[in-house]
Amino acid sequence: MTTTTGDSRVSEAVACALCGTTTDDVPLTWVSSVERGRTVYYCDRCARDNLRSIEARLDSSWW
Ligand SMILES: [Zn+2]
Repeated sequence: MTTTTGDSRVSEAVACALCGTTTDDVPLTWVSSVERGRTVYYCDRCARDNLRSIEARLDSSWW
């Protein structure tokens, strides 16, 4: 039996939007951000460095 129905796990490669680091599974330390309808990811290092600018961008573009 190789039924995978019901398990909606997505094994899509994800790349950091800033440094380009790729990963098969998004670690919990990575940050996902929805920008203009697209989901972008930042690795833990970039997220830490850019967390404030990311939040500021979200705030400014939200309204
Ligand atoms: Zn990065």
